[in-house]
Amino acid sequence: MTARLPPPARQRAVVIDDSASALRQMIRLLEAIEDCTPIGFTDSGQGMGWCRANSFDLLVVDYQMPPPDGLAVIEAIRADPRHALVPVVMVTAADDRDVRYMALQSGATDFLTKPIDGIEFVARMRNLLASCRAHKALAEVSQWLTDEVRKTSLVIRQSPSSVLITDSDGLIEYVNPTFVETTGYQPSEVIGEKPGFLVPNILAPETYEDLRAALTAGRDWRGTFQSHRKDGSLFWESAVVSPIRDAAGTITNYVAITEDITLRKEYEARLEWQANYDSLTGLPNRMLLQDRLSQAIAHAGRDHCQLVVMMVDLDRFKAVNDTLGHEAGDELLRAVAQRLQGEVSVTDTVARTGDDDFAVVMPIVGPLTAPAVTSPETMAERICTALGAPFVIGGTEIFVSARIGIATYPGDGQTPQMLLRSAAAAVPAAGGGAEGGGRGALRHWRFFTQALDSRARQHQAIETGLRHALARQEMALVYHPLVDVRSGRVLGAEALLRWTSAELGPVPPDQFIPMAEATGLIIPIGAWVIETVCRDLAAWRARGIRTGRIAVNVSSRQMIDRSLQDVIGRALHTHAVPPGQLEIEVTERLLLDTSAHTKALLEDLRAMGLRFAIDDFGTGYSAMGYLTQFPFDVLKVDRSFIAKVMHRPQDAALTQAIVAMAHTLDLEVVAEGVETTGQLDFLKDCGCDFAQGFLFSRPLAADDFAGFIRTDRRHPDGC
Ligand code: C2E
Ligand code: MG
Ligand code: MG
Repeated sequence: MTARLPPPARQRAVVIDDSASALRQMIRLLEAIEDCTPIGFTDSGQGMGWCRANSFDLLVVDYQMPPPDGLAVIEAIRADPRHALVPVVMVTAADDRDVRYMALQSGATDFLTKPIDGIEFVARMRNLLASCRAHKALAEVSQWLTDEVRKTSLVIRQSPSSVLITDSDGLIEYVNPTFVETTGYQPSEVIGEKPGFLVPNILAPETYEDLRAALTAGRDWRGTFQSHRKDGSLFWESAVVSPIRDAAGTITNYVAITEDITLRKEYEARLEWQANYDSLTGLPNRMLLQDRLSQAIAHAGRDHCQLVVMMVDLDRFKAVNDTLGHEAGDELLRAVAQRLQGEVSVTDTVARTGDDDFAVVMPIVGPLTAPAVTSPETMAERICTALGAPFVIGGTEIFVSARIGIATYPGDGQTPQMLLRSAAAAVPAAGGGAEGGGRGALRHWRFFTQALDSRARQHQAIETGLRHALARQEMALVYHPLVDVRSGRVLGAEALLRWTSAELGPVPPDQFIPMAEATGLIIPIGAWVIETVCRDLAAWRARGIRTGRIAVNVSSRQMIDRSLQDVIGRALHTHAVPPGQLEIEVTERLLLDTSAHTKALLEDLRAMGLRFAIDDFGTGYSAMGYLTQFPFDVLKVDRSFIAKVMHRPQDAALTQAIVAMAHTLDLEVVAEGVETTGQLDFLKDCGCDFAQGFLFSRPLAADDFAGFIRTDRRHPDGC
């Protein structure tokens, strides 16, 4: 604390004496004093008036003057508190004792006798001026200190933090109102006590030791700890404890300023929970799973044990979510989480790693062959059985099945990421039955193998590449001619998509189309196909080439997208293509979709004048009944039948039956995949209308297809 000292200034000494000569003498003497400015008055009334209006540092006043006399002047000056510290000297005759007494009563500081002794006068005046300066400085410092103390105590009293002050022995001397409010203790209950009673038994020994060491060394201590309120409840405090020293450096007190941070602590705990747990099921999330897996790997590595990681994927969850709503979906996930937890032991971890993906980590102590140890197979079977039992959600029985991919440490990965990836890579293969099925059933779990790993990587690479394929102009269309079985004339073509990836080379549609469907990328890709077909049709027309109708494959995923009708309408309009030239090929899977939207869309497109073909007929559900419900023009018999018509009488008979049946429904029939003249002859005999296949041509680029039509002698436009 540093006091603000007044800067040295010139001091004003006032002299009032009706004797002009005496006044002159005193003024001259005062002028000899350094930093002194004398001001003189012979008229006492005038002098008194000046003194009332101004500040000054010394007053010398003669007693005997016409009124007001010296006493009256002194009384008037002393009546003003601003002049309380100013020394006042009265000049009197040498033996005037009564006057001196009265002057003292009125507030005079000192006396001088006339005639004035110059040396004594100067010495006294200098002392008085010095004492006046000191008094004034002291008064100013004292005022400043008073202000500071008032401010500080106000700050402490009104502080939103708790303030507790102890003496040097650590006994409480003061607590502020916030302390009272926070702890519930009144000052009278704590003053004289040690603060330790506020934190009984809950200060960690190392925190206490740290605090003690800091204070003994005279340092501040900062930290957080829990305290008790008077009612016994606990709260968190963040504290700064500091020693206070006197001018000599001795510690006189300690002050603790603390803040109630209980809310912040609770919030932090909630954030931490949210970062580590899935809020829907309360299970650890992927982050915490990775943590736990790291620890489990460290233990297993040290103890030379195995570790099993299972990825559990629910098969029908999305369907439940779509048909019964998200609330039912959430309830199902919670129920699944519960069943999973019911199957594992306390040392295992169940986590939710994705929408409908769960993971189980099982440390296996001892060799896998030991009878007491639960094998991964047994556990997987148990989980499948548990999840296979029906769930009752909102009064409805729901069946889901699980597919489980299993990876083991150390063989299938040595990091959490690798193990999880390996287990996930085995999931798609589970339920395929390729490994054979335990107890005659399909096996819904699968151990990871290297072959699965490379397939998973390939999958990933295709998915990544597909996201950029359109932008990088890696997609192209080829046209597969459609031929009239009887005349052999080219009547149109089917547009087929080709993708040549910069990284992967040519990728067959059978590999990338399912992925484009699963990721939704088929929507923009399909729109590009329709636009490109219409553009090619316009370009051929401009060159005078009549190509007939062009069929476009549209997947079920595209059919449920609301933008499809707009995409088709815009492409037809932009390129002025007659709608009858465009044929939409859909597969049998679409027929299972009985949603009002799909039906309405098909009817709207039909009303626009588009044609419809049912593709790959015979491979899926082949439900004839459905065919009558949708407005189809063409039925395409799947290539797998045509391939066998020459060798398998059943396929030949089936093909004949399909053709006959289609004709009764007024559908044209296209045979796919015709490779030999034998097959073609058979189809002719059956009465099949059209054919496609390598016998006539491979799928052709747009220009080659135009050339193919021109050179086709049987085509009406051929040259
Ligand atoms: P799809 O619609 O049944 O197409 C016929 C497939 O059979 C084509 O295979 C074609 O090249 C092949 N093919 C035709 N004739 C013969 C033959 O005589 N012998 C043999 N061995 N094969 C023949 P691709 O181009 O690989 O297409 C496979 C599937 O990919 C298509 O089957 C279709 O479902 C899908 N696809 C192709 N392009 C598109 C498209 O633009 N959009 C959608 N959504 N799917 C498409
Ligand atoms: Mg097709
Ligand atoms: Mg087909």
